Amino acid sequence: MPTEVQAAVLHQVGEPLEIETVEIDDPAPDEIRVELVGSGLCHSDLHVMGGYLPAVSLPAVLGHEAAGVVVEVGSQIQDVNIGDHVVAGINTHCGHCHYCSSGRTWICERRLAPGIRSDPMTKVRLGNTAVSGIGGMSGFAEQVILHKSAAVVIDPDMPLDRAALIGCALVTGVGTVINAARVRPGETCVVIGCGGVGLNVVQGARLAGAGRIIAVDLQASKLELATRFGATDLVDAGDGDPVEAVLGLTGGRGVDHAFEAIGIKPTSEQALAMASAGGGAYLIGVVPPGVNLEVPGLEFVLNNKTLCGVKLGSSNMADDFPYFVDLYQQGRLMIDELIAERITLSEINEGYDRMRAGDQARSVIVFH
Ligand SMILES: [Zn+2]
Ligand SMILES: [Zn+2]
Repeated sequence: MPTEVQAAVLHQVGEPLEIETVEIDDPAPDEIRVELVGSGLCHSDLHVMGGYLPAVSLPAVLGHEAAGVVVEVGSQIQDVNIGDHVVAGINTHCGHCHYCSSGRTWICERRLAPGIRSDPMTKVRLGNTAVSGIGGMSGFAEQVILHKSAAVVIDPDMPLDRAALIGCALVTGVGTVINAARVRPGETCVVIGCGGVGLNVVQGARLAGAGRIIAVDLQASKLELATRFGATDLVDAGDGDPVEAVLGLTGGRGVDHAFEAIGIKPTSEQALAMASAGGGAYLIGVVPPGVNLEVPGLEFVLNNKTLCGVKLGSSNMADDFPYFVDLYQQGRLMIDELIAERITLSEINEGYDRMRAGDQARSVIVFH
C-alpha cells in the first residue's frame, strides 16, 4: 500500500517548489522507509532548481541531507530495525564492485544500477506521474525510501535535526580534510567559500590540528562564522586578489592544502595557485558540466603540486557517520552553530531565498 505524504515538488527549473501530497511506495526487500525529523537545505538542490546542474527528470522531490526514524524495513534487511535512528547518505553503493571491494564505496560503479538507487526507478508518484529524486533520495518529504546502503544507524541520543547535516555538509567538509587531504598537525590550509560545506572544512582542519586555517569568502558574516569554526586568518575576496593575500600570509610560499568549496572555475584555479610547492588543491564544489579548468602546466609540474577532485568527502559512511556523532557528543564537532534557522516544509522557498542571498550557513526543515 503506497503511503501519502507531504512533499516539496519541483515542477519547472526556475520556479518555486510546491507543497503537495505525493505517494511513496513500500520499501523493496533491500530498502527501508524512514519518517524524517530533519532535512537540510543544500546548495546542490539550489543548483538543480536553477538549472545549473543537470536534473534528474521533472517533476522531482529534491533534498539529500536528512535524518529520521525507521518505520518499515524490507524483507531482506537484517541490521536495521523499526525505531532505529538513521542518517541518510547520498553514497548509495552496492558493496561488492571493484571500488566497493577496495573500500571506496563513494565511487561505487554500480550506484546507478537498478535496485541500488531509487531513481530513475522512482519510488514517488504524483497522481500517475513518476517523481524523481536527487542522489537516490527525496528528502524534502515527510518520509523517504532508502536503499540499505544509504542509511546509517546512529546513537538515539543524537538530536536528529542536527544529525541531518552529517549526510552532506559534515561529511563533504570534514571528510575531505580527514580522508582525502589527510591534514597533519601544524600544516597550513586555506578554505575558499565558507558556506555549509566550507565551514566544515574549516572545522575539519581544526580537528586535524592544522597550524594555520585561512578562510576566504565575499561575505563578512560567513568570515565571522569561519572564525568561530576555527579559522585563524580571514581574507575578504572582494578586497583585492585573494591569491596574493594568501601568499602574503604564508611568506610567499602558499599553503599545504587549498580547499575549494564553491564549484566555479575562477576559485578552483585560485585554489591551485594558493597551494605551495609540494602542496595540494582539493576541489569539493560541484563544477557545472561543460566548465573546463586551466592549469599552468609548467608551474604545476616543477612545483610538484597535486590537484585532487573529492567526491562526498571520500567517505565510507558506515564508518564516518557514527564517528561524527561521537565527536559532536564530545563537544568537539560544531553542528548547532551551522544551523541558522529551523523551518517547516511549507517555508522551504523562503529558506532557499535566504540561501540565494548568501548570508547564512544552513536552514533545516523540522517536520514534527
Ligand atoms: Zn548537499
Ligand atoms: Zn559498488
